Amino acid sequence: MASFIPEAKLLEIKEAAPIAEVIGQYVSLKPRGRYLVGLCPFHAEKTPSFTVYPERNIFHCYGCGVGGNVFTFLMQHLRLTFPEAATELAKKYGIPLNLKKDLTPAEARASRQRQALYEVNELAAKFFTENLGHPHLGKPVREYLARRGLPEGVAASFRLGFAPDDWRLLIRALSERGASLEAAQQLGLIVPHHSSGHYDRFRGRLIFPILDLQGRVIAFGGRIIADGEPKYLNSPESSLYSKGRNLYGLFQAREAIRKQNLAILVEGYMDLLALRARNIEPVVATLGTALTREQVRLLKGYTSRAVLVFDGDEAGLKAMRRSLPHFAGEHLPVRVLVLPPGEDPDSYAAKQGVEIFRNPWEEAKPLFEYILDDATRNIGDELEKKLAALETLRPYFQSDVDPVEKALWLRLTAKRLTVSESALEESLANKRPALSAPMVCQATALNLERSLIKFILANPEILPRLDVEEYLEQFTDIKLQTIARQICNCHRQLGYLDHSLLVTQLDDDDLCRQVCSLSLAAEEYPPNHLELLIEDYRRSFRKRQLKRQQKKLRLELQEVYQARNGGDFLALVAQVREIEQRLRDLESSHEPLGEKENMDGQRSQS
Ligand SMILES: [Zn+2]
Repeated sequence: MASFIPEAKLLEIKEAAPIAEVIGQYVSLKPRGRYLVGLCPFHAEKTPSFTVYPERNIFHCYGCGVGGNVFTFLMQHLRLTFPEAATELAKKYGIPLNLKKDLTPAEARASRQRQALYEVNELAAKFFTENLGHPHLGKPVREYLARRGLPEGVAASFRLGFAPDDWRLLIRALSERGASLEAAQQLGLIVPHHSSGHYDRFRGRLIFPILDLQGRVIAFGGRIIADGEPKYLNSPESSLYSKGRNLYGLFQAREAIRKQNLAILVEGYMDLLALRARNIEPVVATLGTALTREQVRLLKGYTSRAVLVFDGDEAGLKAMRRSLPHFAGEHLPVRVLVLPPGEDPDSYAAKQGVEIFRNPWEEAKPLFEYILDDATRNIGDELEKKLAALETLRPYFQSDVDPVEKALWLRLTAKRLTVSESALEESLANKRPALSAPMVCQATALNLERSLIKFILANPEILPRLDVEEYLEQFTDIKLQTIARQICNCHRQLGYLDHSLLVTQLDDDDLCRQVCSLSLAAEEYPPNHLELLIEDYRRSFRKRQLKRQQKKLRLELQEVYQARNGGDFLALVAQVREIEQRLRDLESSHEPLGEKENMDGQRSQS
């Protein structure tokens, strides 16, 4: 993936972009010893197992096993390609990088195509904002925004725009600026006409550009200005945009969300802007769909509290119910603020003020309680109604929820249905027992190969003193062998070991995870221990080699014995004896220190 960016350049970028700072923009990290830890953005967890190791410029998650360097982090978190991640960091930290001359033709083409898509979106966004600012053209829309109480500053920071009611204005504007119409069509900005040519998708609409976490325009939403249907229209999904993976306003709100440790989720663009207009900042909006697990995970990188704001209509209620398993599954505590029927955040704030949105966590009700209230409304003491309510709630209990939270739900539900907790639990367990995950047997003992790699990762200066080539030939695990070989190459090449560069050189997700995991587990030893350890590895690899030979000879011996071939037999016996003697010699020269402290489990495996 990285072969086309010179390694010297990668090292330069890595030096300039400290991993703690880069990752810290997306995950809140707390120092723990020489590491930094935080909640993993790649899997659901309540206690931090996502670990950043600044000295070695790598990260690793003990929970889900992801690991890598600054580049891999950005690639996975922001869904960038390697050149994009490198370019992004280079740009941000002022490192000159000329990708054009470093890419293969195919990579260059793919990169150009993606770039063209971003450029077309950017041109379109500019075109829309220019229209909004246009003295005559934009006047009705500016008046509309003023009526909605939206200050110009907010409109500007969200890059609001206007698509006039015309079939070909955008097409003309893009053509004049030399933009690719093919790209515009791929993005859904223009639509092919059944007879000939194209027409603009967004017409007569207030435009809301949708930005990714780097502030690039990836799609648009449009609200009709005059009468017409549909009221809201969004860009279709494209290679830049997936509605279930983005949240409107997150780019603008992420700092506020992090600072207040709170995210307020509203349903639409105008709800969000109405709150921004009243200086309520940590707000994001779903993009016209029910909240997805990925969106919840995205939020979790910035906050540990979410408040859903919905009007009390049936559609909103349904969306809210469906989101509970996502929050519970991601262990993101969520509360809900239900506005009176017919009110949206804008109309509500206009009448009642914004106090409720300033401190919504205190004002809101835990989502499960809300759902419970709703399911058990008017059930009285009728058994049938109670059972019906229980069926409504059953899916929540069967979702992947923290046991403590589930126990709490159980208590609340039992109380509400006036049944005992144990009876309720039994009922929930009996009907459709949740499948328990199969027991996974994990080898706990470190094997010799992993142990050696860890030793080298932490103490690479010993490499010239290890008979590493000899050990490498004995490796049985091909992946570990590849890792070890690359460590040697990297060390030879630089004269020292660079963990971050190693990750890039390995160029394979699994190898990259493994090496980061090993690196985090690797301890440095004081110099006086190193010699003992080097000796220890030498002995261990010899021993393993001898045992393999011994096994092979014994098999041969058996064959020869069965074939009654006397001469060979005696020679083989002599060889076996010799190996046994050498093994005994190794045992007797055994120094306990290294074995006991660092070879952990190795003897049982060798
Ligand atoms: Zn993880």
